[in-house]
Amino acid sequence: MRNIEHIGIAVKDLEAANKTYRAILGSEHYKTEAVESEGVITSFFKIGESKIELLAATNADSPIAKFLEKRGEGIHHIAFNVADIEKEISRLQGEGFTLLNETPKPGADNKIVAFMHPKNGHGVLVELCQERPEN
Ligand code: ZN
Repeated sequence: MRNIEHIGIAVKDLEAANKTYRAILGSEHYKTEAVESEGVITSFFKIGESKIELLAATNADSPIAKFLEKRGEGIHHIAFNVADIEKEISRLQGEGFTLLNETPKPGADNKIVAFMHPKNGHGVLVELCQERPEN
């Protein structure tokens, strides 16, 4: 694991949250991106080498909609930047952790990602992310 790539925050209203985080961070978000397969729309802010990823649901079946229903707005996941995601997945499995997806899948912001079950992280959903290889 290299560094915290981003912190994901589940929000109800992306426009309102953009406004809030623009005021907190003193900078403009640099990207809005939908991840259709996850039913989410994301907005990214840079803060040093890390980012804030705001996540809003695009449909009622979205994992974000379910999270908001259960827990309300707040921190949804912490994402760690890794050099070799396949290697990190095997390493974590070797440590006895449960991955929600054992094969990396496309994520927002040009990444491939894998998630680790929150029960493994003392209640925190952990995301591994690697820069998407050029092809
Ligand atoms: Zn994320």
